[in-house]
Amino acid sequence: MNRLKKYALATLVLFVQGIEINAQCMVNTFDNVRQIKKISASDFRKQEGQDFPIDTIQYTGPEAINFVLLGDGYTETEQTKFVTAAKNVYNALFRKIPMNRYKKWFNLYAIEVISNESGISHPGVLKDGKYVCPEGSSLPIKNVDTYFGIHFDAYNIHRLPCPDNSTKIYNLLKALMPDYQMVGILCNTSEYGGAGGSFLTCTTHSSASEIFIHEFGHTFASLADEYYAGDGYLGEYINQTANNNSNTIKWKHWYGQSGVSAFPIGGSTKGNGYYKPVNGTCEMEYLNKEFCPVCREAIVEEMHNRVKVIAEYQPTARSLTMDGDDLTFTITRYYKGTSNKINFEWSINNVVQEDETSNQLILKSDVFETVTPQTVKVKANEVCPYVKDTKHATKHVSTVTWRVQLGTVGVEAFTHDDFSVEAVNGGLRLKSEKPHAVTVYSLHGQKVAHVNVCGEEMIQLPAGIYIVDGKKMLVDR
Ligand SMILES: [Zn+2]
Ligand SMILES: [Zn+2]
Ligand SMILES: [Zn+2]
Repeated sequence: MNRLKKYALATLVLFVQGIEINAQCMVNTFDNVRQIKKISASDFRKQEGQDFPIDTIQYTGPEAINFVLLGDGYTETEQTKFVTAAKNVYNALFRKIPMNRYKKWFNLYAIEVISNESGISHPGVLKDGKYVCPEGSSLPIKNVDTYFGIHFDAYNIHRLPCPDNSTKIYNLLKALMPDYQMVGILCNTSEYGGAGGSFLTCTTHSSASEIFIHEFGHTFASLADEYYAGDGYLGEYINQTANNNSNTIKWKHWYGQSGVSAFPIGGSTKGNGYYKPVNGTCEMEYLNKEFCPVCREAIVEEMHNRVKVIAEYQPTARSLTMDGDDLTFTITRYYKGTSNKINFEWSINNVVQEDETSNQLILKSDVFETVTPQTVKVKANEVCPYVKDTKHATKHVSTVTWRVQLGTVGVEAFTHDDFSVEAVNGGLRLKSEKPHAVTVYSLHGQKVAHVNVCGEEMIQLPAGIYIVDGKKMLVDR
């Protein structure tokens, strides 16, 4: 096994065994309760992570995905080093396709977690009365007192930095960033290592950025590795399947394009009938590659799962009254990937307005001549060239609906151009210098009169509210 394969195998272990890790958390809660009674209030706050500063590296909005990085094995004097490392991996991630289009969809944080000692533990395993690395690494065996207790040799795999339990991670997040969505832990060691699962870990090895990106694929989009890591790790994932029929395979919409096919995982002898989309060209197989079309799409679709395209709109009230003037509806803030498009589809009373494709629609007051109330609806859909899956168009639609009614107070008279209308006792008096066709509607949209006015015309009407040219007129007895 080469270096990369060892590392890649390691990532899958945590990925698959996430449930086991959580189970360990529960057991350890009792120990913590006992411990808490003995410590001072300020130490307790510190233990719960309430004293650690939060660096906001980027904030784009309350709807964005909160991505937080924590440090392990960084002492009080090493926090600048930690923040620099955090910025470096974030920058690398948002240079990679497709993340280069989606940086603004994230709020990026780094929490300066202080460890008592610098570095990461390498516990080894007991063999012939001596602790040795289970995989024979030359890294010295040592125990380092770090905040989260992350160590190498997890599950007897040297390159897998994991904590024995996750309690402290989740307690800290609960105290400092309860609405987190993505968590990564940077380990203060230049030794090679990383893991992806419910949170990701990565060291500051010279390949740290690439490890971080690969682990992001696991943690963010639930991607599987695209190399053979043993039969126990095979299964149905977005980028791994036992079905290689080109008509029904889960990536059939990519099949035959950009090198996507169905390649046996582990070549002809291994892999137990499981397939991957590309052979040797995906970041989920080797570092320093790009994500393959299937993985790229999965990441974008996960973006769409987590962030609604429409963030803010005007008017903010969704139940409106209209008293004669036109109403303007605007999507004032929305999430769009760099170089991507948003399709806006506007409809009035479920009739799609084919010509309205911008973020704005003007509802003319005269719509009330036909139907009242009116419904204005906008559907927004982000269009990214990396998504071909037809489910996207129906699954990832962000919608706002307004209901508009005519105001309760009618006008007594109005004039526009050479035409005027006046509500009088028993009806409406219409005046026009040029011939002018006028239809009078009831409040429910029924036509009650139609006249061609030239000069002055009186329409006799029972008392009530009528609509003329989109204006409400109040007729008394
Ligand atoms: Zn080791
Ligand atoms: Zn892939
Ligand atoms: Zn989508």
